[in-house]
Amino acid sequence: MQVMSYDFCVIGGGIVGLAVAHRLLSERPGASLVVLEKENALAVHQTGHNSGVIHSGIYYEPGSMKARFCREGAAATKEFAKEHGIALDVRGKLLVATDEAEYARMLRLDERARVNGIRAELIDAAELRKREPNVRGTGALFIPDTGIVDYPAITRKLGELVQAAGGEIVLGTAVTAIREASDGVEIRAGDRVWTARHLVVCGGLQADRLAKLAGVDPGCQIVPFRGEYYQLPTARSGLVHHLIYPIPDPALPFLGVHLNPTIDGSLTVGPNAVLGLAREGYRKWSFNRRDFGEMARFRGNYRMGRQHVRTGVRELRNSAFKRGYLAECRKYCPSLELSDLQPRPAGIRAQAVLKDGTLVHDFMLVRTVRMLHVLNAPSPAATSALPISRHVVAELLG
Ligand SMILES: Cc1cc2nc3c(=O)[nH]c(=O)nc-3n(C[C@H](O)[C@H](O)[C@H](O)COP(=O)(O)OP(=O)(O)OC[C@H]3O[C@@H](n4cnc5c(N)ncnc54)[C@H](O)[C@@H]3O)c2cc1C
Repeated sequence: MQVMSYDFCVIGGGIVGLAVAHRLLSERPGASLVVLEKENALAVHQTGHNSGVIHSGIYYEPGSMKARFCREGAAATKEFAKEHGIALDVRGKLLVATDEAEYARMLRLDERARVNGIRAELIDAAELRKREPNVRGTGALFIPDTGIVDYPAITRKLGELVQAAGGEIVLGTAVTAIREASDGVEIRAGDRVWTARHLVVCGGLQADRLAKLAGVDPGCQIVPFRGEYYQLPTARSGLVHHLIYPIPDPALPFLGVHLNPTIDGSLTVGPNAVLGLAREGYRKWSFNRRDFGEMARFRGNYRMGRQHVRTGVRELRNSAFKRGYLAECRKYCPSLELSDLQPRPAGIRAQAVLKDGTLVHDFMLVRTVRMLHVLNAPSPAATSALPISRHVVAELLG
């Protein structure tokens, strides 16, 4: 059996894994590095099934990794896209309040924007109507620096840069065993074996399983939250110009169903956040026995269910009945019709849930002597991937 030896191994060919690989080779030029990805292409899971938004960082708890990395990441992502000729459109976002309670929450977000150093402008209902004639609200918060981009294209470019710097990317390779020793890590995929002085695991929807495989207690379970989208017919894709978001529920790490122009010229509606029964089952009502069995055995999920029962039922109902989904969007865009909601593939978020039922809001990393596991990297981790990689490499190389 041939054993291949490297300085660094990265598991996961999403945007976080590729950003980490790129950063490692930038900081240690000439080092040997291999990226292992189980699919036959990069960016197949979360990185290839998202809204493509470069978030500004307005929502996140001041001082959290999300707040810091998102703001830095927004600037770094725009710079990277410009430098490498990747399509980018910074057209700004409107967070729209539709009643008194939302208006009050919007004012708190305006305050948070200031604390987090994000440019924001409060506008009244008349100004909102002037800027977006098809949108209604009692007021809105305009975030001029929000943009849209193609994250799979960024990931592929990072892959090219990794290879140009001497790194290897091995696709179609599902890691099945990880063994840490004091001087390095042994990684297996079936009968193939790699050793590395350091391992970074960026496994997205499989992050907790990869941690367990390596003998690390993740302290959480990755729970799949489906994000179901619709797409407007081409003739209606000019309905709004900006990204139009509702005011989110601060108890949840999800942003609410929004109207989202994409970099390919479409206008999408979504995503909702429905508890999934399969981590990588993209079709509606997908079910995976192993995924479901593990969810059913994890006490944290029952606690989470009890804490968010009303939201969970509403999301499930709106997923099953398009009219409920439509009603959510009509609160701020009343001219939307049922016929506007055309099918579009769903995405699945990897959301860490703790044993006490807490939905982990911030990014979460676990470090051992020779490994670093990125355990929770949900939105805005695509926006934040470049600063996350800087942080990961600093932690790893100390
Ligand atoms: C619906 C939705 C909308 C979103 N919208 C946005 C947005 O607008 N802006 C934003 O910033 N973020 C957004 N996000 C979040 C963002 O997409 C993710 O945070 C980001 O893509 C995470 O990247 P990742 O590399 O950690 O994970 P992934 O892209 O999921 O990559 C993990 C990789 O690990 C591989 N892997 C797993 N197990 C193994 C194994 N055993 N062996 C080898 N490889 C393995 C997988 O195949 C996968 O390719 C959204 C996410 C979703 C789902």
